Amino acid sequence: MIELEKAIRLALNHPVSSGTETIPLEQATGRVLAEEIIADHDVPAFSRATMDGYACRREDLPGPLLVLETVEAGKVPENRLLRNQCCKIMTGAMVPEGADCVIMKEYVETDGDGRIRFTADKTEDYIDPRGQHLKKGELLLSKGTRITPRHTGIIASTGKMAVNVHRMLKIGILSTGSELVEPHLEPLGAQIRNSNSHQLAAQTENAGHHPILLGIVKDQRDALMEKIEEALGRVDLLMTTGGASVGELDLVPGVFKELGFMLAFDRVAMQPGKPVCFAHRNGRVCFGLSGNPVSSFVQFEMLVRPYLEACMEEHPVNRRIQIRFEMEYRRKRTDRQFFLPVFITENGSCAPVEYHGSGHLHALHQAIGFAEIPAGQTEIKKGEFVHVRLI
Ligand code: AMP
Ligand code: MG
Repeated sequence: MIELEKAIRLALNHPVSSGTETIPLEQATGRVLAEEIIADHDVPAFSRATMDGYACRREDLPGPLLVLETVEAGKVPENRLLRNQCCKIMTGAMVPEGADCVIMKEYVETDGDGRIRFTADKTEDYIDPRGQHLKKGELLLSKGTRITPRHTGIIASTGKMAVNVHRMLKIGILSTGSELVEPHLEPLGAQIRNSNSHQLAAQTENAGHHPILLGIVKDQRDALMEKIEEALGRVDLLMTTGGASVGELDLVPGVFKELGFMLAFDRVAMQPGKPVCFAHRNGRVCFGLSGNPVSSFVQFEMLVRPYLEACMEEHPVNRRIQIRFEMEYRRKRTDRQFFLPVFITENGSCAPVEYHGSGHLHALHQAIGFAEIPAGQTEIKKGEFVHVRLI
């Protein structure tokens, strides 16, 4: 049994990638940048007014000032201001040369002969100077940024309508278990619905990759070998679920070995989710996840997702917060790091959801994350800060 951090490192000795591609910006949300985004001009590109009013020279206040022209947004001023002159100006418009402040129209009176007078004692500048936010050539987004709506506007502002991103991986999902039926069927007798395939497909999409549903295979050695071998031809990475433990019908790790794979690990010190293997053979990689739905969910989030992010050279994303624990909590076995599903209480602290163990899929529906209780720790005190990995 190895630590989770070590498992991630071992898996990353065998990264997968399918290269990069250039795609239209409007299709790039959720993708990871493979190029830098650089400012192609100063921002703002010209000094702009931040209020409706009159652009003038501070030293001439309170006036009277002669109004030379009206400058709307999008118009280049025709005049340069000289002594006791001003221009009427709109928010966002280019400030005429010579002006060093904008006085708000609310504090201006007009005298009828084209002159105005400032009625307040003082004013801010109300000018965003050229280059205040950014200088041309500055790095805006670095390689490895996952593009979210916050980034899309920034990219568009540089005039780039196509971006180079990492290709999405085709991730095969194969559920193993003779008891499984596809969800649209009514389970008979001791059958259960295959919910894991769909859960893992949703997690895969959420991580920015293409899930490929490969259906169900029975706990039967030859069928499993055939299905895995066939799947490998179609995908960049394979995930199996079920049959990863040490039971008589937990065939997955053995089948990987029989197919000539090396196992980098086959159990990880985490609860839930201990039985999990990473198999590799000539650049082909597979994760053998548990069958228990909460286990496979946690294994994807804590192990597969960080692996995928590193493969995409994505900037590490911190999804851990520190938050107070609502109540006293104790556990008996402490040999593994424990991931306890929690929700946020009305007090803004966190508390465990009703959780009956790794088979209790429905426990997760209101969980916002997992409190991480380190190996060796038996209790959490009421009000103590814990780390919660958000999901
Ligand atoms: P296993 O890891 O194969 O021993 O499975 C552990 C538990 O998870 C068993 O109760 C299985 O019925 C359940 N399980 C296995 N695969 C799935 C699946 N694809 N969807 C939902 N539950 C599953
Ligand atoms: Mg099974």
